[in-house]
Amino acid sequence: MSIAPITDLSRLCIHTITTKPWSIEEAVRNFSAGGVKGITVWRDALSGRDIKKTGDMLRQNGLSVVSLCRGGFFPSKDPLKRQTAIDDNRRAIDEAFELGTRLIVLVCGADPAQSHEDSRKQIYDGISAVLPEAESAGVRVAIEPLHPMYADTRSAINTIAQANEMAEKLNSNWVGVAVDVYHLWWDPLLEEGIERCGRNNKLLAFHICDWKSPTVDLLNDRGLMGEGCIPIRKIRSWVDATGFNGFIEVEIFSNEYWKQDQSQFLKKIITAYYNHV
Ligand code: ZN
Repeated sequence: MSIAPITDLSRLCIHTITTKPWSIEEAVRNFSAGGVKGITVWRDALSGRDIKKTGDMLRQNGLSVVSLCRGGFFPSKDPLKRQTAIDDNRRAIDEAFELGTRLIVLVCGADPAQSHEDSRKQIYDGISAVLPEAESAGVRVAIEPLHPMYADTRSAINTIAQANEMAEKLNSNWVGVAVDVYHLWWDPLLEEGIERCGRNNKLLAFHICDWKSPTVDLLNDRGLMGEGCIPIRKIRSWVDATGFNGFIEVEIFSNEYWKQDQSQFLKKIITAYYNHV
């Protein structure tokens, strides 16, 4: 079965980290001029700025503020650090509210000094602790399962099945899941996981990029769509089949692309979006 390509930019969102050399002001100007309709803001991009005014500036340039990245990092053997993480997540919720976005993406965290079961219990407790603030701010939190290569320190939630289980167990309208093709493409149970996520109304975000082969840096060598081995269009069709019609978010950390001219890079992103998403 052939899957129809995307024919306009109405669902294209780009993360500020994708064009990291640009300030948020430069990113907004260029995204807007390029016809991009959504922006996901990384918290570092807001440093030293009035968050509310920044949110207004994004909207005045025709951009939807899709989400704030990122909260999470709940687990630690040290109770003080767990409390610090909860406090920081409460701040992130405040920031999302001020910015005027309704979603925070969570990189849930893991502590290699303890079992994954313990880390997941602390993730459950950490998210539970911030849910009252999330609800009163009208901000939802999305659990983003991370590729197992990050299972030591970044996340004890590594598959969509685990993310679905956690979101279902938390049993709140304010908790869902972010699907990122980079983390999940290899999973033989991905299609049914996406279907289950959609059926439970838990699919809150969809992130794309590509997996380069070989990958030379575990964190900062993500590829542009079409450069690697991820069946992005096929996964997009599974996401679409759930009824999800939100933004498709380009999230690329790349030492290689950050060295290049960002205006050229933006053009490449838009071309790749049409050709491979
Ligand atoms: Zn992501």
